[in-house]
Amino acid sequence: MSQISQVTEQAVHAALAKVMEPELGRDLETLKMVHKVEVKDGEVTVGVELMTPACLYKEELGRAVTDAVKKIPGVTAVNLELTANVVKRSARPDQGRLPGVKNIIAVAAGKGGVGKSTVATNLALALRQWGATVGLLDADVYGPSVPTMLGEPDVPAGNKAGNKIIPAIHWGIRVMSVGFFIEKDGAVVWRGPMVHKLLQQFLEDVEWGELDYLIVDLPPGTGDAQLSLSQLIPITGAVMVTTPQEVALIDVVKACSMFKKVEIPILGVIENMSYYVCPGCGHTDEIFSHGGGKRLAETLGTTFLGEVPIDAKVRSGGDTGRPVVVGAPESANAKLFMEIAARVATRISVLTNSAPKRVAGLVSIR
Ligand code: ADP
Repeated sequence: MSQISQVTEQAVHAALAKVMEPELGRDLETLKMVHKVEVKDGEVTVGVELMTPACLYKEELGRAVTDAVKKIPGVTAVNLELTANVVKRSARPDQGRLPGVKNIIAVAAGKGGVGKSTVATNLALALRQWGATVGLLDADVYGPSVPTMLGEPDVPAGNKAGNKIIPAIHWGIRVMSVGFFIEKDGAVVWRGPMVHKLLQQFLEDVEWGELDYLIVDLPPGTGDAQLSLSQLIPITGAVMVTTPQEVALIDVVKACSMFKKVEIPILGVIENMSYYVCPGCGHTDEIFSHGGGKRLAETLGTTFLGEVPIDAKVRSGGDTGRPVVVGAPESANAKLFMEIAARVATRISVLTNSAPKRVAGLVSIR
């Protein structure tokens, strides 16, 4: 008669202590990602909690968990419950502002017109598509383009709850922009102290509620808005958007050095308008050169998050209020934004799980 092994919870935990989280480089037990182990005869139920729903290697990790548990003698079946809970990153006290917001991601650029708002908007929508709760603050007070890019809201901004302003809801994300309150064609002239006051209001008087990620679309360059925000809220990290040509890259380096001064980590670099693929013949043209973003990321000691080509769908999506991630979710570039969003979320998980260290003069997460 063959001996039937008794499966124990300890044996399951021991097996999971050998499964590594690929980006964090530590095992699931050490990272406290195993939330449930139940053993009933040979049937094992395992609950693993990811640090973000925007996880590119969710399936791979799930398979690794199932395989590891299946190898335990006596296990006949494995039920895997994969959930996600974004961890709050508290680099410094939030001074009572945005208490329900777990992570604040600034999207920045050295100069205007590189597609920073396009990236910020699609990034926010992509994180939402992954299942996160997301807000988008258009802090580009001089040229707010988020309202145009997102189109008609499902719920308009401005209704007061108590003395709080309710953000607009577009495509399932909470949005606030000065563009909601000014004439579309009106020039916006803000002096430094007014910018500070306005942003303070957007942070303190808006009912942002519970958010996994608040994306902040910064004005280009290094100015009052960047400094105000860095003083007002603990920004988790900045995503730098650039086009590949030298003149754009130089300004990104300047912007990064400002972030360094205010101790905001750089999460990585995105190269936008990276190349153009002719929809007719498939020929690829590197109009603004190519690869500068990757080189820049290397120089800065940070992560290259991805490259987005010049694409009519990306442009028209922004112009017509249907950003490509929600307007053409099956398109190659919508998928690209989904991947980039997951890389950003992963960078944040890495940051949350490791003390920041300085690399090449920058506060970097690697
Ligand atoms: P910024 O915020 O840096 O000033 P925007 O996001 O407003 O730049 O983009 C400027 C213009 O370029 C917009 O018309 C936008 O639709 C377009 N654009 C941005 N990225 C792309 C892209 N990858 N392909 C095609 N058009 C793009």
